[in-house]
Amino acid sequence: MGAAVLALKAAAWRLTGSAALYSDALESVVNVAASVVALVALRLAARPPDANHPYGHDKAEFFAAVIESAFILVAAASILRAAWLAWQTPALLAAPWAGIALNLAATAGNASWGVVLLRAGRQHRSAALRADGRHLLSDVATSVGVSAGLALAVLTGREVLDPMLATATAIYVLWSGMRLMRDSVSGLMDEAATSAEVEHMRALVATHAEGAIEVHDLRTRQAGRVTYLEFHLVVPGTMRVDAAHGICDRIEAALQAEMPGVVTTIHVEPEGKAKHQGVLVL
Ligand code: ZN
Ligand code: ZN
Repeated sequence: MGAAVLALKAAAWRLTGSAALYSDALESVVNVAASVVALVALRLAARPPDANHPYGHDKAEFFAAVIESAFILVAAASILRAAWLAWQTPALLAAPWAGIALNLAATAGNASWGVVLLRAGRQHRSAALRADGRHLLSDVATSVGVSAGLALAVLTGREVLDPMLATATAIYVLWSGMRLMRDSVSGLMDEAATSAEVEHMRALVATHAEGAIEVHDLRTRQAGRVTYLEFHLVVPGTMRVDAAHGICDRIEAALQAEMPGVVTTIHVEPEGKAKHQGVLVL
């Protein structure tokens, strides 16, 4: 699918020599390369934990997204260069209508594939697939814009519209690449769960920790589909270990039931280790 779209867009550019169509074709090259990377990453991320990766392989997806955003930034630079060259020597396009028609056919293909990817991404809770689908759909928007602009350029005879369109595409591509880079880097940097999720966790812990005194040092971090939660649970110093462990099991079961992607680790402490900051008194 990606390859067919690519071939159509490349043909549209070769036919016309248009910088704007070049920018559009280059975006598709990035799309095809990115979906290959995303597919490999998805396979890797789905692997169960093993001896040398006991926490699983979920972060492979963030790596894929970083690589994808690097592709996008390189494409933006290349488009800017093409726009600059076309700006310096504006030329009337050859066979513009055939080029525009080919480009629109390719765009229709992209649109259907983008919707498929978005759906699959939602189903598998995959950041990489969703990023891919969203990227394809934004590509559809720029392609329609480029085709409409080129049609206008041909009708009005203003060839400078071509490099201007290419520049606009480049700026847009640059922006989307930077946004994707920021999102995937924050995933690699162990970003905390959203504050709504943390509130939900704190409420669940508070209602299922009967017998304990307080909870402190609660921390969360996200790794792909999994969110890790850990905290200290203060219990009376004379409480039996099996009773303290029973509280932990209750909390873990409640979290498991309401927030299936959360993995909980609890550190039990005797009374006297209580804190006075960020504390959840039970
Ligand atoms: Zn503590
Ligand atoms: Zn246990």
